[in-house]
Amino acid sequence: MQKISKKFTIIKNNLVAARILRKQRWKGQIACPRCGCVNDISPHSIFKNGIKRYFCHNCMKTFTDITGTIYEKTKVPLWKWVYGLIILLESTGSLSAAELSRNIEVSYPTALKMMRKIRSTLQNDRFEGTLKGICESDEAWISHKKNQQILLGTVERNGRLKLFPIMDRSDTSLYFPHRKYVEKGSMVCTDSLSTYNNLNHRYIHHTVNHSAKQFAWRHVHTNTIEGVWSMLKGVLRTIHHGVWKRYLQGYCDLFSFMYSHRFLSLSDRFSLLISKSCQPRSCLY
Ligand SMILES: [Zn+2]
Repeated sequence: MQKISKKFTIIKNNLVAARILRKQRWKGQIACPRCGCVNDISPHSIFKNGIKRYFCHNCMKTFTDITGTIYEKTKVPLWKWVYGLIILLESTGSLSAAELSRNIEVSYPTALKMMRKIRSTLQNDRFEGTLKGICESDEAWISHKKNQQILLGTVERNGRLKLFPIMDRSDTSLYFPHRKYVEKGSMVCTDSLSTYNNLNHRYIHHTVNHSAKQFAWRHVHTNTIEGVWSMLKGVLRTIHHGVWKRYLQGYCDLFSFMYSHRFLSLSDRFSLLISKSCQPRSCLY
């Protein structure tokens, strides 16, 4: 299969990159990022590097295709950003800043900042939608040097994944992420940790007792989430060589995005990633 980066060699052009961003950001409806006005917008005369500027007659200010996004106020050409996103999608689970800097010929600190910005745009993917059907939950320790962090992972069978750093393995820490992001009445499979028992009130809760060497009973098992831990730890160890605790959530968001949308074609994932990266940064928090 032809790699998408070869297919999109034409993208090494700021005009094409700007056109792609414009299409994914506005989707046919230009809206002022300051006041949200959609009716009183007119094109502005300034047009630079393919980025269009508009004038809002409601707030009497101008804005561009990249106002409020991660692409604003950066000296990195737009095509390098878009090309970096394509390389990220082609990678196996994640992309290191060193590899990005080699591919798009920017310095390592610049590539590091770019990756941090890209990861920051994916955090709202964590809050979107709820999981339903048969879900599996488990917690895992992620450690790097003296940094140790517990992650709670919940995954739909053949579906999406959500990862949350938690303070401890108490019943409250394990229950509230489920309450918020797993639909009531769903089936949740966990191991036999007693603090998961709170889930009985809201979900059809089944357990497998790993210490008694019981790993699967009919459709009750936690093999999917165990596989997720294996992949995540592999990515963090081999691609990123360990991650500091304060940046772990960003890496988890990127991994969750890649995992949750694994069944989409590369082109669809590319469109989704571009549209997420075009969301105004103020909406991310
Ligand atoms: Zn406005």
